[in-house]
Amino acid sequence: MAVIEYLEPLYDLVLYFTDSNIWSESEFEKRKKELINLAKDKKIELITASYDHEEWLKAVVTSENKLDQEGGTRCERCFTWRLEKAAQLASERNIEFIATTLSVSPRKDYNLVNQILSDVAAKYGLKPLLMNFRKLFNRSVELSREYGFYRQKYCGCEFSARKEK
Ligand code: SF4
Repeated sequence: MAVIEYLEPLYDLVLYFTDSNIWSESEFEKRKKELINLAKDKKIELITASYDHEEWLKAVVTSENKLDQEGGTRCERCFTWRLEKAAQLASERNIEFIATTLSVSPRKDYNLVNQILSDVAAKYGLKPLLMNFRKLFNRSVELSREYGFYRQKYCGCEFSARKEK
């Protein structure tokens, strides 16, 4: 949300929600609904992918990485999988720049996220917006409270959910 607020005056935004990493489907729907409401409120185009957690599991999770702490190789593959989806869509729609909200969270490796963003952008002929969104974390908490938005209790996948219990 804070990223949208930051980029909105600078670019014509198209939002893409492709978070099949989220477990369960009802949690996915809950987070998607919040974004739909925000996009409507801000009059920004939003594209949502259908939920396919099986596809995400096959592409990202291995017997070696499923017990990784958040920030391990499972997360690296997860970032790549999601950013590739976004880059593919951006390229099909002739969008010039690509950015991600992934680096807002202090629990994510900002440098790794930006490295992956650069790599996928290069692969699909896009320009990456390598901004330091970590600085927007406090603002994003503030805005969520202001709008009464649902605050997720875990990163997304079942492995992160179990760690938070
Ligand atoms: S903890 Fe978050 S970033 Fe890591 S694999 Fe799970 S959903 Fe993806």
